[in-house]
Amino acid sequence: MKNDDAYQVAIAGGGPVGLFLGCLLQEKGISCIVLEKRKNTITHSRSIGIHPVSLELFESIGLADDFIEKGTKVKEGMAFINSEHIGTLSFASCPPPYPFVLTLPQYITEELLVAHLNNLNSAALQCETTVTGLTKTEDSIQLNVNKNEIDKKITAQYVVGADGINSRIRQEAAIAFKEKTYDDSYIMGDFSDNTGWGSKAAIFLCDDGLIESFPLSGNMRRWVVKTQQYMPEVHREDLETLVSQRIGHQLHHTKNIMLSSFGVQKGLAETMSKDRVLLAGDAAHIVSPIGGQGMNLGWLDARDLANCFEQIFNESTKPEQILNDYSKRRLKIAGKAIRRAEFNMALGRKTGNLQLKKSILWLMLKTPISSLMARIFTMRGLQTLPF
Ligand SMILES: Cc1cc2nc3c(=O)[nH]c(=O)nc-3n(C[C@H](O)[C@H](O)[C@H](O)COP(=O)(O)OP(=O)(O)OC[C@H]3O[C@@H](n4cnc5c(N)ncnc54)[C@H](O)[C@@H]3O)c2cc1C
Repeated sequence: MKNDDAYQVAIAGGGPVGLFLGCLLQEKGISCIVLEKRKNTITHSRSIGIHPVSLELFESIGLADDFIEKGTKVKEGMAFINSEHIGTLSFASCPPPYPFVLTLPQYITEELLVAHLNNLNSAALQCETTVTGLTKTEDSIQLNVNKNEIDKKITAQYVVGADGINSRIRQEAAIAFKEKTYDDSYIMGDFSDNTGWGSKAAIFLCDDGLIESFPLSGNMRRWVVKTQQYMPEVHREDLETLVSQRIGHQLHHTKNIMLSSFGVQKGLAETMSKDRVLLAGDAAHIVSPIGGQGMNLGWLDARDLANCFEQIFNESTKPEQILNDYSKRRLKIAGKAIRRAEFNMALGRKTGNLQLKKSILWLMLKTPISSLMARIFTMRGLQTLPF
């Protein structure tokens, strides 16, 4: 990257969304650069759920098999009230070839996307490069960037903020962001799997709050446990005790490789398109991690936006309208995802009305409603594309 380099699109943020958008634009022959402030990909397993709609996107750039090879196919989810098994939700009714949710630690997801982007263009991803400001001209945007303590300027026709929840690009473009913090909080950890449940997921609606358990490759399992208040520091004993108290499952003597806690927010940008600045992923919308949609939603944004850029650069017709429509479409869909996540969280809250929960769960697992639930849990209906 040289001073004053010019691109059709500059992407701020090389998280899962910025990296995937970079791959799509390179595939389409659109010149782009991905600017990432970190040195390396994250090492935390954070997001693990990859939905069939995303595998379909990866298939379009020849990457689906690489993801499937490294991940775990979850074809069924068992549902419990406390430790009573109420039923099982199967994803078998989901359309082929991906009737499952894939679990894969986020650092492997990012490694696969980085490798693909580097294969397409080894100069497209610039790490240790922080975007510090934007200056708009009539037909381009100048980005101020800092790489290894040296300030540089690069020019792009469009800038995409894929720089996450505290997006600098969103702030620079003065795009308002409505946020709300929920009272809900959770702890989570990855432990060696001593459940005997194989590749099945399990959801426990307990008197004292939700427990989720998802298989991971290498005989590991992710446990997510609702807590009464946010716990800034988590010890494995905290998680072990809550799991044991609520469902009677013992986690001691297992290996633990990750522990963390998280609070929950929702957020929506006022627009995802303003004066040649576009937003995608968490920079535009924050969805509760319960239900595992945020990263997938961002990839759907990326796909939509890449199609818009293709149309703009190939035909140059009404770019503003194309991008405004992108914004409207994606914000509507993000709103829908936020509401789905709110439903998931509500179901997992501590409540006295266990009988009501049991009836709702029973109904959700009964055909034909179970097919609808499988569609909802696998994010069908959120992938609408313009062309
Ligand atoms: C506990 C937890 C579990 C989750 N599980 C799931 C799940 O299973 N499935 C799912 O779909 N979603 C899940 N999510 C949500 C998911 O993690 C996010 O939606 C996803 O990471 C968003 O990707 P992104 O690329 O938009 O943003 P980010 O992942 O935040 O990436 C933004 C990138 O921009 C970089 N950056 C920031 N500012 C600058 C700058 N000024 N210059 C250059 N670079 C910059 C950052 O270093 C970062 O790499 C989970 C979230 C949490 C907290």
